Amino acid sequence: MTYDLIIIGGGPAGSAAAVYAARKRLKTLLVVSEWGGQSIVSEQIYNWIGTPALSGNELAENFKKHVMANVGDSLEVSEAEKVVGVTKVENTFSVKTESGKEFLSKTILMASGSGRRKITAKNADKFENKGLIYCVSCDGPLFADMDVAVIGGGNAGFESAAQLLAYCKSVTLINRSDTFKADEVTVEKVLQNPKMATIKNTEILEIKGDQFVEGLVYKNTATGVESELKVSGIFVEVGQIPNTDFVKGLVPLDEIGRIKINTWNQKTEVPGIWAAGDCTNVLYHQNNIAAGDAVRALEDIYLDLKTR
Ligand SMILES: Cc1cc2nc3c(=O)[nH]c(=O)nc-3n(C[C@H](O)[C@H](O)[C@H](O)COP(=O)(O)OP(=O)(O)OC[C@H]3O[C@@H](n4cnc5c(N)ncnc54)[C@H](O)[C@@H]3O)c2cc1C
Repeated sequence: MTYDLIIIGGGPAGSAAAVYAARKRLKTLLVVSEWGGQSIVSEQIYNWIGTPALSGNELAENFKKHVMANVGDSLEVSEAEKVVGVTKVENTFSVKTESGKEFLSKTILMASGSGRRKITAKNADKFENKGLIYCVSCDGPLFADMDVAVIGGGNAGFESAAQLLAYCKSVTLINRSDTFKADEVTVEKVLQNPKMATIKNTEILEIKGDQFVEGLVYKNTATGVESELKVSGIFVEVGQIPNTDFVKGLVPLDEIGRIKINTWNQKTEVPGIWAAGDCTNVLYHQNNIAAGDAVRALEDIYLDLKTR
């Protein structure tokens, strides 16, 4: 049998798309390796519209509940299943999973998201979500009136610093090399703020603290001198790793592996494949954005299937 649509991913993008697909009566399979997506690790999420606060686990449970309530004649779900390959077979796509299953579909929606690149300094694991944070928009306001650091001198690092400057006591941006990768205009603007400082040529050696972050130890890579910076929060913006390995060679990706899309309709450069959320080359990464992008994709997939 051939599905109308296979959706890959059980985060906000995949879950939103599945609900819409069921309501539009598309013969759909949702393949989910884990429900909830990246923010399941968050203690509290304060910006999921319609819910003032909920934990990452609650968000995941809600996604599952909402999708499962729509399972029926049109929607099926394959849980705890990881996609390992997608190939084109004449006018359909074949989706293979780790457990050896194979499914066929007329269209594909990639909603496989991404993972944040982590820092490897001593104790970085121990303090994750205890002051060492991988999402400023999510947790930044918890650090109001505190001294914080941002690791990473790209656009994401500077944009995060700009957000933090609105309410933190001071922000120190720590950069690996001598030059910042971020756009000059952004750098200039952010550095004008008197609460802003930078440290260049730096390797982070250790995160310090008891229950929560209290500082970090870094080495100046030019001089070899080690120093300590006292901060209550460390925001890491050293890049993202999109979950797109399994479509490499089939779908055009950008230089960091994100799926290139047309933001008007979420189409990839391969007819029959759409993508939404953090696996795509969009600028902003939030649950509401991923869900919205997926809904836009679904509308377009529906139109495409019904006008073939
Ligand atoms: C620590 C942290 C906290 C965050 N907090 C917030 C917040 O408070 N508010 C907010 O709006 N945003 C937050 N974000 C950002 C937000 O989580 C992401 O923008 C959002 O999750 C992206 O959704 P997505 O569906 O595109 O991808 P993801 O959430 O990454 O979901 C991808 C899904 O695909 C599945 N998957 C991946 N590969 C495969 C495969 N091969 N086969 C099958 N399934 C696969 C994954 O298991 C997952 O279910 C946070 C991010 C991080 C890292």
